[in-house]
Order: sequence, then structure tokens, then C-alpha cells
Amino acid sequence: MATPMTAAQAVAQLKKWGLRYVEIPGWATHNREGHGAWGPVNGFIWHHTGADVKDGRAYAASTLYNGLSDLPGPLCHFSIGTDGTVYLVGWGRANHAGGGDPAVLAHVQAEDYSGQLHPTRGNSNGVDGNAHFYGVEIQYSGGHEMTAAQYAAARRLSAAILDFHGWSERSVIGHGEWSSDKWDPGYTPGKIMAMPTVRADVKATLAAGPGGTPSQPNTGGGTSPSKATAMTLSDAVVVGAWLKAQWPDDKGLADGKITVNTAIGSTYGHARAAHEGVDALRKEVADLRAAVVKLTAAVAAKGA
Ligand SMILES: [Zn+2]
Repeated sequence: MATPMTAAQAVAQLKKWGLRYVEIPGWATHNREGHGAWGPVNGFIWHHTGADVKDGRAYAASTLYNGLSDLPGPLCHFSIGTDGTVYLVGWGRANHAGGGDPAVLAHVQAEDYSGQLHPTRGNSNGVDGNAHFYGVEIQYSGGHEMTAAQYAAARRLSAAILDFHGWSERSVIGHGEWSSDKWDPGYTPGKIMAMPTVRADVKATLAAGPGGTPSQPNTGGGTSPSKATAMTLSDAVVVGAWLKAQWPDDKGLADGKITVNTAIGSTYGHARAAHEGVDALRKEVADLRAAVVKLTAAVAAKGA
């Protein structure tokens, strides 16, 4: 729980952490004052914009600054373009978090949780998140991964905020961890990133410090292993066309997909069968070798 940074303090943090930023004119006093509280703040929420954006600055200055017909701006405090540039859009109360789960808020306040958060309340029945969270709108659809530059900037921006308030990485959550009706930030349609992996990466960035070499993310540069972490045994994976061609009658392959569980089980089964087959062959070869030695000796004895 903390008093929000002032606009000047926020800029100072961006500078301290070496973030490349652009100030959208008027951002420092652009907010939803009079429509609810701003502060005390408890954390930072990551969002995707839900659409891929060509001109990051124009998008920040129009849609994010002004808002939508049914949702007045600002729609965030920060936005991150595909090249990692941070846009300052508004300061104060902003329309980004909406309603969320009070149990999640309690966990973020206490920083006493681990793993992915699964909210049971959302926009229609949740508590006001706009009073409690800073928000960043990362400019991508969420139907694919954000760029490596966006991910690096989002980590550094998170670290800058945590550093100011003395918070841990547990004060950084995804919108889909706050509202039950959201799934951002996504990596594939409808699926939120593995936020524990994101938090581990933010923790590393924070620990390295503003002057530190940005540590390699756990995800290896992008956000793909977050996807692997989020994969469950019942998820479907696409199989190669050759597999279908090899077993055309296999009904399980008809839709070109198998579950992770099937893939692992099948891999184990085939590996074990191959191992046992090789053992049997080894014995046969050894027997044959002995027979050849015997035969050669017999022939030699006869010739002598
Ligand atoms: Zn969102």
C-alpha cells in the first residue's frame, strides 16, 4: 500500500531505469479524477491492447489517451510500442483495471502468494481496480506473443515501479489474474501468459538493478517458454503431416492434433519398445557371432 508516484517521480524512475519514453502531450494531468479514488496503490497490471498497432505513438495519443465510446480515457498510464518505446498516456486514475477479485487484491497487498492467480470476480461483480493499480497497455493483439523488445521494456518498467515503492515481483499481475472476464496479456488466442514466469523475469531485472546488464529472461529472449509453462496435459498439439500420412487409419490423428498427454505417453511407449527391440537384437547378434566363430573353427579343423 502506498501513495502513488507523482508524474515527475514516474519520469525520474523511467530515466533511472534507462527506459526510452515518449510523453503524449497533456499526459501528466490527464486522468479520471472525480470518478473514483486514485490510491493508495498496490501494484502494476500488464495488459495487451487487443489489436496489433502500426503507429505506436499515434495509437497512444488517440485511442489510449481519449478512450473508447463506452470507456473514456486515459486507458492506461503507460503503453509499450513494438520497438519497446514507453508512451506516457495519463497520470492519476485511469480506466484500465475495471472490476476485479478482492481476494487477488488482498494477495497482491500482502505479496503472499505464488503461482498463477485465478480470479473468480470480474468487471460486473468485482472491486474497483483503477484506484489500486498502475497499468500498462502493451501494443499487440494477445493472439500471439509480444515482441522481445516489448517484453524487455515491460520487465524494466515493472522493475522501475517496484523499485520506487519497495515492492516485490508479486506486485506485478496480468489483467487476466485480476478480472475473471479477461485473459491479457496473452500469447495465443484466449490464453494468458504464464505470469509466474513473467514475475521470475521481473525479479531478475529488479535484482540486476537499473545499471545492471539486463539478465536473460527465463523465457530465452521472447515469451515462448511462458507458453510451455502454461501448457497442460490436456492441451492439443498439432502433429506433423507425415504422421497422418504414416498412419492414415488412425482416428486419433484425424483432426491433425493430439493431446500433450498422448504425445508424452506415445513417445515413452515407442522409446521403450525401441529399447527392448535393440536389446533383443543385441542378443541375436551375439549368438550369431558365436556360431560364426564355431563354424570357422570347424572349417579350419577340417582343412588341416
Ligand atoms: Zn486489460
